[in-house]
Amino acid sequence: MKKKLNFQTKAIIAGRSMDAVSGKTFETLNPANGKILAKIARCEKADADIAVEAARNAFENGPWPKMSPAERKVILQRFATLIEAHTDELAELEAIEAGKPISDCIEIDLPETVGTIRWHAEAADKIYDQLSPSGSGVVSMIVREPIGVVAAILPWNFPLMMAAWKLGPILAEGNTVILKPAEQTSMSTIRLAQLATEAGIPDGVINVVPGFGEEVGKALGEHMGIDCVGFTGSTEIGRMFLRYSADSNLKRVLLECGGKNPLVVMPDAADLDVVADHAANSIFWNMGENCSSNSRVLIHSSLKAEFIELLLERTQDWVIADPLDSACRLGPLIEEDHMKKVLSHIEKAKKEGAKLICGGNRVMTESGGYFVEPTIFDEVSPKMSIAKEEIFGPVLAILTFETPEEGIAMANDTEYGLTASVFSASNKTAHNAARQIRAGTVSVNCYGEGDISTPFGGFGLSGFGGRDKSLAAHDQYCELKTIWMDMS
Ligand code: NAD
Repeated sequence: MKKKLNFQTKAIIAGRSMDAVSGKTFETLNPANGKILAKIARCEKADADIAVEAARNAFENGPWPKMSPAERKVILQRFATLIEAHTDELAELEAIEAGKPISDCIEIDLPETVGTIRWHAEAADKIYDQLSPSGSGVVSMIVREPIGVVAAILPWNFPLMMAAWKLGPILAEGNTVILKPAEQTSMSTIRLAQLATEAGIPDGVINVVPGFGEEVGKALGEHMGIDCVGFTGSTEIGRMFLRYSADSNLKRVLLECGGKNPLVVMPDAADLDVVADHAANSIFWNMGENCSSNSRVLIHSSLKAEFIELLLERTQDWVIADPLDSACRLGPLIEEDHMKKVLSHIEKAKKEGAKLICGGNRVMTESGGYFVEPTIFDEVSPKMSIAKEEIFGPVLAILTFETPEEGIAMANDTEYGLTASVFSASNKTAHNAARQIRAGTVSVNCYGEGDISTPFGGFGLSGFGGRDKSLAAHDQYCELKTIWMDMS
């Protein structure tokens, strides 16, 4: 980390860096000290209009959609290689803007961002269209075509990785895109778009409009010139995109939203040491600001005492420090308001009668940053808000059950359904539980989200309309067309 970072703060439209039409900017802060990092172009409806025009022009008249998939693959691979070459710079940006531990950025976020673009690039020329079995008098083709101009609305918790989850399939299928980063984390997305241009992705194919959700985000959601919105964020805002679509042009809406994910420890779980490792990693990694974190541990009552002892030991390993310190495993929460929200959830849990057994406080206050300790509540009952609401912080609720059936019922006692983990020494018990739990991904004897080849998305309030990652993500950015040719 020797070079000084050159902050990129402007919108990218048709390959050019641009101020907002209004000339307005907004401040982006460093969550580790509360200080201003930079002033970013504050895009609004007028900027959204220009970006949509550029993306539409690139789609209708530019080379990208017409290129062979193999040509797109080569350019996207170059893009991935350039991102890889800029790992240190992008990791540092991500750590500074989002408060993420630098070691995570370097070891997880950047390699996964690169791997995601590479995987979708590779898939570009390996997906076939179909002929339907319609008989000999006809040639009936079912072809996939790019859906058109896509708006990708992004969250702040994994800025580059979430951008890559969208960009990979959107671009591989020949669409053009407007990225709307979360207002807390604009700069790594802007830099990504610059690297795309350097890699040879034509102007207008990737545009970036930083700004506030209720301004430029809403303008994109309501825009008549956008064919599809791929959104990752909260369920509350996800719902708004369905309304925007209904009130405008019925654009396709794909939502990846929140979760209140269970980690179910069956009575025959083989190794509580392993369970404790995964449980701690799941709730404390990325400060718990992770849609797939298992924020509810549901454990057979016979195992709870030993598990808690092991978990509390693990908690010591989660070093709270400045995100640029390589020892840091827990950085600050993203912003002051979010920290206050997390702390108010903790206070509410105490009032409702949950037993605080670890953490619960803001720490390193003198830094000006928004650090919260790893926090664990025991004696949580299913009715308490801490068992129901997504907190999006390092706060774990422990509940007990008496039978595997009760454990599964508790796992399903949520409006969400993003991920779940099950621990059991019996394949039969684990598999039965995995089939019965209503969630998009169920990991067995580990905490995990699968890999790039597996779909990611949720049941219930966790999502709508599609899946990120895997080939399923390609389908959602395509239209299906039937071409019926009379050959008689
Ligand atoms: P958020 O819903 O507040 O914001 C997401 C995006 O929507 C941001 O770009 C924001 O600017 C924009 N937005 C906000 N208000 C808007 C409005 N009125 N109109 C249009 N756009 C608007 O979410 P967040 O706080 O950035 O991210 C945290 C949430 O994301 C959590 O709920 C988390 O579970 C979820 N998440 C889900 C996944 C997944 O894959 N399922 C992955 C990461 C995060």
